[in-house]
Amino acid sequence: MPIINRIAEFHGEMTEWRQDLHANPELGLQEERTSGVVQAKLRDFGVDEVITGLANTGVIGVIRGRGTSQRAIGFRADMDALPILEQTDARHASKNRGVMHACGHDGHTAMLLGAARYLAETRNFDGTVYVIFQPAEEGLGGGKLMVEERLFERCPMEMVFGMHNWPELPAGTFAWRDGPIMAGAATLEITITGKGSHAALPHLGIDPIIIATQIVAALQTIVSRSINPAECGVISIGQIIGGDTFNVIPESVRMRGTARWFDAVIGNQLESGIRRLTTGIAESFGATAEIDYQRVMPATVNDVVATEIARRAASTVAGDTRVIPMKHPTMGAEDFAFMLEAKSGSYILLGARRDANDPMLHHPRYDFNDDILPIGASYWATLAEQQLPKSH
Ligand SMILES: [Zn+2]
Ligand SMILES: [Zn+2]
Repeated sequence: MPIINRIAEFHGEMTEWRQDLHANPELGLQEERTSGVVQAKLRDFGVDEVITGLANTGVIGVIRGRGTSQRAIGFRADMDALPILEQTDARHASKNRGVMHACGHDGHTAMLLGAARYLAETRNFDGTVYVIFQPAEEGLGGGKLMVEERLFERCPMEMVFGMHNWPELPAGTFAWRDGPIMAGAATLEITITGKGSHAALPHLGIDPIIIATQIVAALQTIVSRSINPAECGVISIGQIIGGDTFNVIPESVRMRGTARWFDAVIGNQLESGIRRLTTGIAESFGATAEIDYQRVMPATVNDVVATEIARRAASTVAGDTRVIPMKHPTMGAEDFAFMLEAKSGSYILLGARRDANDPMLHHPRYDFNDDILPIGASYWATLAEQQLPKSH
């Protein structure tokens, strides 16, 4: 059974839903219209219950199968868009200038809605399926909020599953991975305060620009010299702000960056290394350093058993040869990590590439590939039917 026939029949409708969401993107925790559309559709499909109010705009559809099983699983999609000025020529391009569905969450929402429609119509399973539409995946912690607002107590389930479209992989393939699949992430802001002076009289000041350059270089030794070479981590400084003109040594310099890791122990080593080197270097020059280090996401870690369940459903839909193990995890971060910290489950990538020039996620010319809508929806539906089989 590849794509489920009944789902293929409403491919056109799913495409309309997706393009409507694309034209009306909303930023994290402000997904009022999107949340309303999702609720209305779930009611229209005849799901048993629609739960709202979690994490502001979050929505959960409850679909009960035939039979008496108390078992339950959850599927999660994200609904938010990004603050990007869209540069596609699509007819369904964003009507909300400066806000864009550049990560395909419009497609994720449409695919899970497609699965909800099919599951509510056919109920070819025994148990409960929760379809979870979360707000604010892009850095505002919608997944964390849902967990804190007791998602898994209100909706008790054995496992939770997530999926992301991936334009680097051919359309219709799946990529799976046991253990870490995406990185933990922290944001970093360092302010070096020295003493401003005339650039020709540096001995009268304490130059924060020289200190910043030493710190930027020294931070790169944390990954190369302090952590076990068999492990991995990233520290990147992405922004340096300081100075106004060529002949003045400024008072202070600000630097912003990010750190990434998979193993929490490495995450701790990155943080302590950044604090130690930054403070030590600044002090050794007679300056001070203020460090604001915020851990924004844990690593996304897949459960082995749940991943085998996900892999099996993907193979049923796409065929064994199109379901590939990922050699390496990606250093990107994913808010679904918070759900996987609280509940075992698995996160899978769904290939979306049309051709070699297809833009990657977060690009202003990215547009979700509608061809894969029935594949993603069939994956969810198959996963439900395989994991919650009807008794005979
Ligand atoms: Zn994104
Ligand atoms: Zn995304």
